Amino acid sequence: MEQSFEAVTGFIKEQFPGQDFIPLHAPHFIGNEKKYLLDTIDSTFVSSVGAYVNRFEEMMAEITGAKHAIAIVNGTNALHMAMIVCGVAAGDEVLTQALTFIATANAISYIGAQSVFIDVDRDTMGMSPVALAAFLEQYAEKRADGFTYNKTTGKKIAACIPMHTFGFPLRIGEIAALCAQWNIVLIEDAAESLGSYIGDKHTGTTGRVGTFSFNGNKTVTCGGGGALVTDDDALAKKAKHLTTQAKVPHRWEFVHDDIGYNYRMPNLNAALACAQLEQLPAFLDNKRELAENYKTFFAGIGMSFVVETPGTKANYWLNAILLDDLEQRNAFLEYSNGNGVMTRPVWELMNRLPMFRHYQHDSLENSIWLADRLVNIPSSVRLPLKNNKD
Ligand SMILES: *Cc1c(COP(=O)(O)O)cnc(C)c1O
Repeated sequence: MEQSFEAVTGFIKEQFPGQDFIPLHAPHFIGNEKKYLLDTIDSTFVSSVGAYVNRFEEMMAEITGAKHAIAIVNGTNALHMAMIVCGVAAGDEVLTQALTFIATANAISYIGAQSVFIDVDRDTMGMSPVALAAFLEQYAEKRADGFTYNKTTGKKIAACIPMHTFGFPLRIGEIAALCAQWNIVLIEDAAESLGSYIGDKHTGTTGRVGTFSFNGNKTVTCGGGGALVTDDDALAKKAKHLTTQAKVPHRWEFVHDDIGYNYRMPNLNAALACAQLEQLPAFLDNKRELAENYKTFFAGIGMSFVVETPGTKANYWLNAILLDDLEQRNAFLEYSNGNGVMTRPVWELMNRLPMFRHYQHDSLENSIWLADRLVNIPSSVRLPLKNNKD
């Protein structure tokens, strides 16, 4: 095993020549970032009013094909806002994954709602329609008010938030059909999947609302940032209003007509985001090329490398391999991290964390199977970049 681990880290190092330490995902600022940032400072409009915030929203709507995009301070708050505008309330339940980043479950808790953890598919690593259907069949009932309630807890199942893990699109069409059947609002946590498609539909645009993140480690970053996308005019208007302190527009009066939030992305971050988004196609091509190299290499040594499922296009934000079992996983993590190659296991499953331990979950068979085997390997964009517009 030691020998094949050495081959793996050796190959990874070859992909990133001239680096002593290979990080999991490092950003590159090689386009108009400095120009736009200076422009923002010169304009003095560094805060949440400014031309780049509007431009960022236009770019996100164009890239995703959504009718509206709303700029938000980060992806976690975008999820929080998505639930607020969709009417998820304290005491409700929200179906999500145990295999996700902590932000998904935390945002549900900000609402005062409770997560229910549904299993994922092994191939997409996102919510399994089979598991969702089985859970609803066993535990849910539709009441006279038209909404679905959990028979065990008596709580309303207000929303379902699947997450497109590492940028690999999940079976969103089937999830959407189940949500429609049970009258459950579908919100997509597309934080990791900018540039990922199901057919020609961008992730985040099947649900009523989709959310994205532009945190430092994401495919495109603006330091900290998020976005909410929707085709619903009223929801978009509400999100814009609530993220800007619910201020009633007026030339000088300070009147607010709701409990608002200071959730709008500052112009400074938006400037960075616009410059990064211009490079998205080139970043995606570059990441796909690395994934192709990995795919060929791992096939050659008989190791399992995660690839996009048929009919989908992944952004290959974070590449992943599957080891034989937990012991092998740990041995590989130990070896690679000790040999200049940063690798990471998947997040501790949400149902194992102290805050969420008491929440309902299904067998989570596939989530546990993946958590025991999966390791993320370095996935940064490599320079020089081909086809960069600028
Ligand atoms: C990154 C991420 C978020 C949001 O992250 P922020 O750091 O708040 O922008 C939400 N969900 C998932 C799955 C993520 O990976």
